[in-house]
Amino acid sequence: MDTPSTTSRTFLGVPLMKPTVAFFELSSCEGCQLQIVNNEATLLDFLSFVTVVNFREAMTEKTDNYDIAFVEGSVTRADEVVRLKTIRKNAKILVAFGSCACFGGVNQLKNRFKDPAWVKKQVYGSHAIDSNDTAQPLDAIVPVDLKIFGCPVKKEEVEKIVMNVALGKAIEHPKFPVCMECKANENNCLFDLGEPCLGPITRGGCDSWCPSNRFGCWGCRGPAEDANIVQMQEIMKKHGFSEETMLDRLECFGGFARDADALRKTMKK
Ligand code: SF4
Ligand code: SF4
Repeated sequence: MDTPSTTSRTFLGVPLMKPTVAFFELSSCEGCQLQIVNNEATLLDFLSFVTVVNFREAMTEKTDNYDIAFVEGSVTRADEVVRLKTIRKNAKILVAFGSCACFGGVNQLKNRFKDPAWVKKQVYGSHAIDSNDTAQPLDAIVPVDLKIFGCPVKKEEVEKIVMNVALGKAIEHPKFPVCMECKANENNCLFDLGEPCLGPITRGGCDSWCPSNRFGCWGCRGPAEDANIVQMQEIMKKHGFSEETMLDRLECFGGFARDADALRKTMKK
């Protein structure tokens, strides 16, 4: 990356690029961006590695001149398609920021409603809402360079990834499942405490955020490498949980959409 990056720091004596970064939101709760602003303890360190030039939650200045664009949310409207294409054109690196951007997130649940008009009426009554298209992840519309998973994203992980980008280091997502971190954190397995959990098949990296707080994993980071769905079904069954319970979790964030569709088909038989 060249301009508009600057090189005000060094690492092991080597000048460090200081990329300009911009944050944007499409259809979302903006919770992923909030994670960055909320990270008071390390925010200043983080900001010393990048120059933030566009961040509606935190500043009023704006520019179309940036190296890295973090885009939160899924695409659910025609004007968002246009906006995303413009961001893609401006950015050297486009990051799908959070599970809505990576998989459609909780927004993609609306693609699964049998009667979306009924749901819309129950939720919004007579209020007009302008979100009529299906919810899609960013890479259904434009090429994406990097995905940061999670609902919301884990701020420590975001900082690590951004620093690696600034250092020109390769980004590797964990291939292991949440269970590995859960064990390392010495938690009691929630199945032994009578609660369902998608930890065995979900990509780690959140430091077993939910199970460490006695809440079963809902799979917000999508599948771990070689996720064994059949074995997950067996574990659920063995502990007395129905296929509907498993399906609810698989459908929730969109990362397991194909597995959810396959399970739904077998349930109909
Ligand atoms: S609580 Fe969940 S993540 Fe933790 S060991 Fe049990 S199944 Fe795995
Ligand atoms: S435990 Fe599961 S649902 Fe919770 S943050 Fe981690 S991946 Fe997401």
